[in-house]
Amino acid sequence: TAVIINGRDVADKKKHEIAQEVSSLKGQGVTPGLVVILVGNNHASRTYVTNKEKTCKELGMNSLLIEMPEETSEAELLAKIEELNNDAAIHGILVQLPLPKHIDETKVIETISPLKDVDGFHPINIGRMMTGQNTFLPCTPFGIMVLLEEYGISVAGKHAVVVGRSNIVGKPVGQLLLNQHATVTYCHSRTKDLAEQTRQADILVAAVGIPNFITAEHVKEGAVVIDVGINRNEAGKLCGDVAFAEVSEKAGYITPVPKGVGPMTITMLMYNTLQSAKESINRK
Ligand code: NAD
Repeated sequence: TAVIINGRDVADKKKHEIAQEVSSLKGQGVTPGLVVILVGNNHASRTYVTNKEKTCKELGMNSLLIEMPEETSEAELLAKIEELNNDAAIHGILVQLPLPKHIDETKVIETISPLKDVDGFHPINIGRMMTGQNTFLPCTPFGIMVLLEEYGISVAGKHAVVVGRSNIVGKPVGQLLLNQHATVTYCHSRTKDLAEQTRQADILVAAVGIPNFITAEHVKEGAVVIDVGINRNEAGKLCGDVAFAEVSEKAGYITPVPKGVGPMTITMLMYNTLQSAKESINRK
């Protein structure tokens, strides 16, 4: 049976390291500051935002929550972002998605200064990631790479199969695996005979958003299975995209849900904010 990759433990270890660096940075007169902008009243978003604030405080960083009403115009939101781009006390700007329908997400993301884009969603930073330059990496894919590293799972030469091609998870995680010399296959909703593809995987990443989507028949014996999904099953219980019980019998490594990839996402957000604060000193 599979080794269970404990994302909670890795996240705690990384957060401890970040907190130490934050404290030494404060000694140099800089406190990393993250601002989260929440527009409207999405219930799930509110939970995420509260967690981000809490984690900032735990690690000794400043956090600022800006709540704007549902009817905020696009121009108002863009003006707020510009103001924060120019605020030296702010090192990271995160606009919680999704936004209300009347606001263009692409425009919003492109307005955030690439120097403060701690989500790693700005096209400039995505381009830098693709070309293997130092940049803010998107938090969930980055967290996955850290989990692999912490468990001593080598990537070079492995066949990685990513199921899902969203801009925030599927595409960037495939790119990061490629950057580390994996052979990468992307699968998605139009893929024919998914199981035939996924059975080739030494490393299988599921980022689909459907409970129990990946079953034992999708998985090669001994594969590393990374479950990104955060779903609710019929019973209302939190679950991933992978049928954990049967797949963990067959896999070599597996991330559980919860306590797998989830805790890494917020941790890498803190890491990126810390890096941004450090770089702001170098620019002075
Ligand atoms: P998304 O809905 O944007 O993308 C889902 C992807 O799955 C699409 O690219 C689609 O092509 C693919 N897909 C859908 N049906 C398929 C099928 N039948 N066969 C093959 N592929 C199919 O979702 P997302 O934002 O990438 O998120 C995916 C999951 O990960 C969700 O459950 C989400 O909640 C979770 N998530 C978790 C974290 C975390 O921190 N752990 C972060 C982001 C998202």
